[in-house]
Amino acid sequence: MILIYHHIAPPREAAGICDGTDDWRLTLAPAQLEKQFQTLLQRDFRFVGLPELVAAIARRGWEPWRQVAVTFDDGYADNYAHALPVLRRFNVPATFFVTTDHIHQGVADPRLMNVDQLKELLGFGMTVGAHSRTHPNLLEIPEPRARDEIFGSKSDLERALGTRIDLFAYPYGVHHRVQVKLVREAGYTAAVSAGGGAQNTRLGLFWLFRYGLSANGNSREDRQAFNFLGGTLRGLYRDLRKKLGWPIRAALARS
Ligand SMILES: [Zn+2]
Repeated sequence: MILIYHHIAPPREAAGICDGTDDWRLTLAPAQLEKQFQTLLQRDFRFVGLPELVAAIARRGWEPWRQVAVTFDDGYADNYAHALPVLRRFNVPATFFVTTDHIHQGVADPRLMNVDQLKELLGFGMTVGAHSRTHPNLLEIPEPRARDEIFGSKSDLERALGTRIDLFAYPYGVHHRVQVKLVREAGYTAAVSAGGGAQNTRLGLFWLFRYGLSANGNSREDRQAFNFLGGTLRGLYRDLRKKLGWPIRAALARS
């Protein structure tokens, strides 16, 4: 299972982050994060890095059961301040998908992690992945711009961090054939989307499903996500639907 998180902040700070947007819905308190990690450990889940999980899926064809990879999107500075201490305490090797416009432009953005902080994450055994430069909906921009977002964020990070960047997260989770093709062309080894609680397969390496636990980690949906058989069937169904549906739709469009 791959989990997705955004903001991590104590309730009093979370109010300041949202600025009237819906961001508060994506904010979890550090204590809630801890609680979720405890629940996962109680359910016999083992935390693994996303690169390790991706390698296992590529090798075996299926996602190993009871392994969980933790991911954070957007590269918020609160991840460094509030998630990192929890991750280190629980020994969780998380992956951070960050946007790179501020790195590309060389302009500091206090809301986002800077290069030194990202390097520090790497030093703690965390992974950094690309999440585009400016966080557009990749379906709504022309292909050359999407190419720039996908290729550019990879090279921005590789230059700044001096390490290979293998993983990409689609902004808003959205992708179609063209975006998948670009991500492959750029040389990423896998990409993550959103899409709920489903077991991942080798067919879906370029749109790996991620699940967002409810705050208490014990909703009906959460329990469904923890169900092996249901998750496997959902994953296979979704992967096949994309794998078969996209070529059929493209052929129909051409005819
Ligand atoms: Zn995002």
